[in-house]
This record gives sequence, C-alpha cells and structure tokens, in this order.
Amino acid sequence: MTTSSRGDTAATNALIVPLRECTPWCEKGDGHPDEFPHDRRCWSSYGRVPLSVAGGHHKFVGTVDDTWVLPHLNVYLSRDYDLEDPQVVIHSEDADAELYLSLDAARSLRDKLDGLLGIA
Ligand SMILES: [Zn+2]
Repeated sequence: MTTSSRGDTAATNALIVPLRECTPWCEKGDGHPDEFPHDRRCWSSYGRVPLSVAGGHHKFVGTVDDTWVLPHLNVYLSRDYDLEDPQVVIHSEDADAELYLSLDAARSLRDKLDGLLGIA
C-alpha cells in the first residue's frame, strides 16, 4: 500500500468520489459536496400545478413544510449522480407518490395531453 506525505493511503484515496458538475438548472449548483455520492442529485426549481376536483369539493393536503394547501402536483427536473439525462418528476404530496419520466416519456405524455385537450 502506498502512503502519501499527508499520511493518506492509496486505498483511502480510492474511496473519494470526485464531485460532478451540476446542471445549469440545479438549485444547489455546487456539486453537492456535503452529500454522499449516491445522494448527489441535481434538482430544478419546481412548478406547482393546482388540481381541480370533480364536483368542486376541495380537500386541503399537508406539505413537507407543514403548510396546508389545495391538491396540486409539483413538477421539476432531476438528474441522478450516475445518469447523463435528466428526468421529469411529477410529485403528488397528497398521494405521497413520485413519477420519474425520461425526457422521451415526458414528451409522449405532453403529446397525449395535448391530443386529449384538443378534442375536449
Ligand atoms: Zn446539482
């Protein structure tokens, strides 16, 4: 085993994962040095899509920051540390569910929604 002048060993240095440059749209933008390598995910700002409820009955839902809001979807971009392409995330706090769509899947969803809205 090789030891450097600082006392680091080659085995220790092999465990250090270099930071990856953030995407231009990442909210953090610093490469996420305070996160474990597998947690280094770029996140964009999100857009909120309010949901209307059939019959006009609205149920307030809790959010992660302990506020109560009308049902909605949060939509944003995410890129995992080991992926090249970002994903479009559709997050429902009400259902506590997230959909991760490839860019192609998101485009397909957009086209399907456009088609349905065009005949509605
Ligand atoms: Zn980032």
